[in-house]
Amino acid sequence: MTETADVVIIGGGAAGCAVAYYLAQSGVQSTIIERAGVGNQASGNAAGGLNPLTGVGIPGPLGSFAWECYELHSDLHEGLVQDTGIDYQHRTVAKIDLALEESDVPVLKESASRIDAAEGFKAQWLEPDDVAKLEPRISKDIIGGLYDYGNTAADGHRLTNAFAAAAGNKSGSTVREGNVRSLEGSSGKIDRVILEDGEISCGQVVMALGPWSRRAESWLGTYIPVDPLKGEILRLKLDGPPIEYDISGAGAAIYPKLTGLNWCGTTEDWKGFDLNLSEDVAKLIRKRVGRVFPALENAELALHTACLRPVTPDWLPVLGQAPGWENVYLATGAGKKGILLSTGIGKSVADLMTTGETTLSIQGYSPERFATRLD
Ligand SMILES: Cc1cc2nc3c(=O)[nH]c(=O)nc-3n(C[C@H](O)[C@H](O)[C@H](O)COP(=O)(O)OP(=O)(O)OC[C@H]3O[C@@H](n4cnc5c(N)ncnc54)[C@H](O)[C@@H]3O)c2cc1C
Repeated sequence: MTETADVVIIGGGAAGCAVAYYLAQSGVQSTIIERAGVGNQASGNAAGGLNPLTGVGIPGPLGSFAWECYELHSDLHEGLVQDTGIDYQHRTVAKIDLALEESDVPVLKESASRIDAAEGFKAQWLEPDDVAKLEPRISKDIIGGLYDYGNTAADGHRLTNAFAAAAGNKSGSTVREGNVRSLEGSSGKIDRVILEDGEISCGQVVMALGPWSRRAESWLGTYIPVDPLKGEILRLKLDGPPIEYDISGAGAAIYPKLTGLNWCGTTEDWKGFDLNLSEDVAKLIRKRVGRVFPALENAELALHTACLRPVTPDWLPVLGQAPGWENVYLATGAGKKGILLSTGIGKSVADLMTTGETTLSIQGYSPERFATRLD
């Protein structure tokens, strides 16, 4: 039997569920198709930082959009928690970026003045004694650090599920378990989504397949250059008082969570779709973390995860109408920032689908920039 939906969203990660959420705000019902559980891939295992001031393309072509996404997160979180009962732990965090080499110092000091100038943020350079006063368990081998406050963070798995739940509450949107095999249509319109176990006829389609987006190249006959960048994280238990700061330096990053676990990582490996947990990578993470926070080097392991970031050649997202298709939209390519960018991805794509325009700064992210027909 053929099922029907106004909008089918393929992929129940942060991107797809955020599109469903913002469509629902305009009264549009959607069906999210997800084969591995909502938020169970990168969106559920990301570190969850919502930092709009650092990362590839910031400052630069991602800067304005990242800031808008950060503000959208701050605006929506209270209502989203109230509406769904899902506390996704949106909170402001303090961070210390440590300098272990002299060459780190000018870079961090330059960042300090830029971050300090951003609305709602505070940043300052700290000498080793000041760092030790904040967190005495940090290595004594540091030569200083950048303290900043104002960045926010969230639990990506809960946030993704909150988006999906709120879309259900508002417009009756649903999640359907299933593996999409292809799309069918003609004259520039897709009218059926073909699954392993059935098909859905639909008015519009959103492609939010994350790192698996290239799978849709043959379905749509267009180039969608999104490649998987593997990242592993160790969740470590630490005896003693909880760490109160996100800490980074010497290739290590430590994200203390409200659960009491310290998420440590993160790595970047181009290994195709390999999702195996690597013992060598686990050792490397422990070694790097031990250099900045020795007590964590041999801390008890609670969980080791691996997942894939969806990365484009220019490290910018791919948002908007698919070239050559009247009713297909791409919502992918968020790279290392997909939890932060989820709000802007969801809102801009929903705006384009419902009104044909958006006020968000997505110029330069159009799928057209990669458009080469593959037929
Ligand atoms: C180690 C690590 C740390 C990170 N830290 C941060 C961070 O601190 N802050 C931040 O903002 N971002 C972070 N990221 C990046 C972030 O996780 C990603 O950018 C984001 O999760 C991408 O979301 P997505 O919805 O596009 O993809 P995904 O979460 O991968 O979702 C895509 C979904 O599509 C489904 N799917 C694919 N093909 C099909 C099909 N044919 N049929 C049905 N379903 C399908 C998949 O099962 C998957 O659930 C991190 C990533 C990693 C790996």
